[in-house]
Amino acid sequence: MKEELTAIVGEKYVSDDIIDRYVYGSDASIHQKMPEIVVRPGTVEEVSRILKFANEKKIPVVARGAGSGMSGNAVPMSGGIILDLKRMDKILEIKPEDLYVRVEAGVVNDELNRVLKPYGFFFAPNPASGKICTIGGMVANNASGMRAVKYGATRDAVMGLKIVLASGEVLDAGTKTLIESSGYQIERLMVGSEGTLGIIVEATLRLTPLPKEKSMGVAAFNKLSGAGEAVSKIIAAGIIPSFLEYMDNVAIKSVNKMLNLNLPDVEAIVVFECDGVREDIDYNIERIKKVCTEQGATGIKVSSDPKEMNEIYLGRSKLFPAMSQYQDGLVVTSLADDMAVPNSKIAEVSEKIHEIAKRNEVVITTYGHAGEGLIHTKLLIDPTKQINWEHAKNAVAEIYETVISVGGTVSGEHGVAISKAPYFKKERAGLLKMFHMIKKTFDPNNILNPGKLQDAPDDFLTATEIRYPVED
Ligand SMILES: Cc1cc2nc3c(=O)[nH]c(=O)nc-3n(C[C@H](O)[C@H](O)[C@H](O)COP(=O)(O)OP(=O)(O)OC[C@H]3O[C@@H](n4cnc5c(N)ncnc54)[C@H](O)[C@@H]3O)c2cc1C
Repeated sequence: MKEELTAIVGEKYVSDDIIDRYVYGSDASIHQKMPEIVVRPGTVEEVSRILKFANEKKIPVVARGAGSGMSGNAVPMSGGIILDLKRMDKILEIKPEDLYVRVEAGVVNDELNRVLKPYGFFFAPNPASGKICTIGGMVANNASGMRAVKYGATRDAVMGLKIVLASGEVLDAGTKTLIESSGYQIERLMVGSEGTLGIIVEATLRLTPLPKEKSMGVAAFNKLSGAGEAVSKIIAAGIIPSFLEYMDNVAIKSVNKMLNLNLPDVEAIVVFECDGVREDIDYNIERIKKVCTEQGATGIKVSSDPKEMNEIYLGRSKLFPAMSQYQDGLVVTSLADDMAVPNSKIAEVSEKIHEIAKRNEVVITTYGHAGEGLIHTKLLIDPTKQINWEHAKNAVAEIYETVISVGGTVSGEHGVAISKAPYFKKERAGLLKMFHMIKKTFDPNNILNPGKLQDAPDDFLTATEIRYPVED
């Protein structure tokens, strides 16, 4: 295999070195499984030739951007080839007059926005991992972020994709037009496909004008339910902030400890931002303050100072690394990490999650892009003890059952991959037959990211190795 791949991309871009294989065997999830080889193509033609070869030999191929997925999305369940697309990082076309930008799949989110800024536009989906995550990974996971409540998720920005099929055939799906009604929207089908249907090599993405100004605020609550109610009441009042987040006390303590932020040490805070023109911003901020006060906010601080706003933003965007500081000996695991529920259920589900945590003896934090119903949880456990994993597994099962029972979904933005597959299969039971048929049509030899989504094992703890040293 090494010889054939070297003939396609050159020696420098192929590695079967044990260290590379180890590093490429995990992402930001708990899962670990080594590939046999890592290959880093630089052109569409090289991707096509690699897939043609792999398909003929029936070798698994797992696409990888930055490996920042949290559910094992890029972990190669069946070994095979890791296809690292980060070398394909060119911005190919910027067309403000047509409201699109065309990029290669390995372009990093924040780098794209850095280049777009002088044009007065941005690519709106805004994950907290924006510094590293690639456009290919964002499309494949349908990533979203803090500003999705106003600007939408990645799916809302995808106008067209260039895809390489398992056979090596190259397809152009979608258009460069803002509207399209010409048959099946294959580009949409690729969104959220987690590398199981084809390799995205190029994306045509919708541009959004940069807002002129913004203000941010933090509202403190002595009850988690008050914060949850405030969020759904803000939306029900017809206010669409540019972000609307909540954080519980575990999250607040963690960012205060790591970043020295001095956020109010209360049971929960709601963090909001309004952008646009000043008159509009001030009007909406006043309305948000009113709703928060009615829901029991004990203090509200609003700022338009860039330094202060940056600190508030950092508090939320650095939350995941900050949580590792919560307590010595506990590590942050992404298990039930990005559920979405109807906005009106945020308060009820968040409270229930804390009750589940207590009963199962795990520390759980809840926070998230509440404006779009997104509830993040992270389970903080001592990973060296097998019993803690069992407790975590029980808690996760209860959390997903709660989420599904209120009409929610097990993944709002990180994708299903391995960790969420058992509950995803429950949630989408009526669609699984269709999922299998679609997979078979695109990838008859099952070489693309096999063993994920509908094909993942039912026990996520034994599906792969766990990348922590478990002692008993
Ligand atoms: C600290 C932190 C914060 C995060 N915050 C957010 C957040 O706010 N919002 C959010 O949505 N996510 C978030 N994530 C999760 C993750 O960063 C996103 O899902 C991101 O889009 C993954 O991009 P990536 O380039 O790392 O993809 P990878 O992890 O490398 O891959 C993800 C999936 O996409 C597939 N894939 C990658 N490239 C391609 C391609 N070119 N063609 C086909 N398939 C491909 C892979 O096979 C895999 O299934 C966060 C992660 C971390 C570690």
